[in-house]
Amino acid sequence: MLEANPDEQDVIRYTNRVYLPNEWRSILFTPDTRDFCTPPLLEILNTNIPEKKAYIGFENFTDKDAVIVPPWVTGVIGQSGDEVKVSLVKSLPECFQINLIPLDKEFFQLVQNPEFTILNALHQKYTAVIEGQIIEIQMGEKIFKIEVGELQVINSGKPENAKSAYLLNCDVYCTLNNKDKIDLHTEMVIDEESEICPTCFLVVKKVDMDIHKEKCNETMYSCTLCGNRIKGGNFKAHLLDEHNQQ
Ligand SMILES: [Zn+2]
Ligand SMILES: [Zn+2]
Repeated sequence: MLEANPDEQDVIRYTNRVYLPNEWRSILFTPDTRDFCTPPLLEILNTNIPEKKAYIGFENFTDKDAVIVPPWVTGVIGQSGDEVKVSLVKSLPECFQINLIPLDKEFFQLVQNPEFTILNALHQKYTAVIEGQIIEIQMGEKIFKIEVGELQVINSGKPENAKSAYLLNCDVYCTLNNKDKIDLHTEMVIDEESEICPTCFLVVKKVDMDIHKEKCNETMYSCTLCGNRIKGGNFKAHLLDEHNQQ
């Protein structure tokens, strides 16, 4: 296992995706792997410390003879250079509720509507998580370290606690845990040249707002109230029509 270089980090740093050695091409996408999760979900564990593991997805193949991982993965399972074992996962219970613990003190001051923004920063970027691991997410230009707290999955139609959970295409409820007991309703401090996008709640420079809104209106977001995926431009109407919220 090697930690991603800066070019590779541009692509995978805030995700659970990795680069796999070219030689694995013949085993990753074959008829035999059809019974497994698609897109492929893999378990990576440290050969010398097998209890240290993470769930990873596939980004691309690499010429290097190593699994190239984002920095948070090395943080969770060991060090760059460690020998790892990677195996395909057949299935993982679907996430019902995820509790997340932002570790940066400024998180609650900088992020408005944090459940919404955090759920959308995770969407499609992390396909599965394990309780206790610390991941990284990107919100606009800010980067935050987030600890994965308690997880609930659906088992035979009922929610139950679990150590790990599958996130992709699940209707996930997100709760936030405030480790430092910061006042959650602290007013956000933003400079005069910036404002908050009313759709995605990111801080955007006023001069860039028109371009941002065009893109934002076409972006799909997860509704924190029902889990549905809604286009940014339709979000206000969705909140009003479906949840009676202004
Ligand atoms: Zn926006
Ligand atoms: Zn909704």
